[in-house]
Amino acid sequence: MSHSPENVARYVCSDCQLIHAGVPRRTATGKRSFDPPETCGGCGGDDLIPIQNWVHHHSAE
Ligand SMILES: [Zn+2]
Repeated sequence: MSHSPENVARYVCSDCQLIHAGVPRRTATGKRSFDPPETCGGCGGDDLIPIQNWVHHHSAE
């Protein structure tokens, strides 16, 4: 398992399936963290699924 410091969180829009990069921010302890975008840039929807959940969802039967 690689340990990249530039591992950007990604979110999938559940409506149009556009993938968005997470919005970077720094926590109070100086660590890098990501927030999901407020809304989808494609359809304006606000239901953004973390990509790891999305993959999990689609690997289920
Ligand atoms: Zn969308």
